[in-house]
Amino acid sequence: MSGMGFAQDSDGTCVGMTKDSTNCKIKVTNQELCRFHGGNKVEKVEVISTICTENTKKGRRCKMKTIHESGICHHHRD
Ligand SMILES: [Zn+2]
Ligand SMILES: [Zn+2]
Repeated sequence: MSGMGFAQDSDGTCVGMTKDSTNCKIKVTNQELCRFHGGNKVEKVEVISTICTENTKKGRRCKMKTIHESGICHHHRD
């Protein structure tokens, strides 16, 4: 035993092969294959957007979408 060795096939890159028969070098975490070789897709975190609750100068409801926690669009926040 000479120190800690890592297995060759778990260097943090995809174990799939490219079209040129070389190892895929795309880095992966907690899985063996990158998304191009059938690995899990990284799920997008959905940002919930709301419609601004302020009114425009004309007295109409502002229809700007915002992801700000206040629920007020950037036009009406400053
Ligand atoms: Zn790959
Ligand atoms: Zn607004």
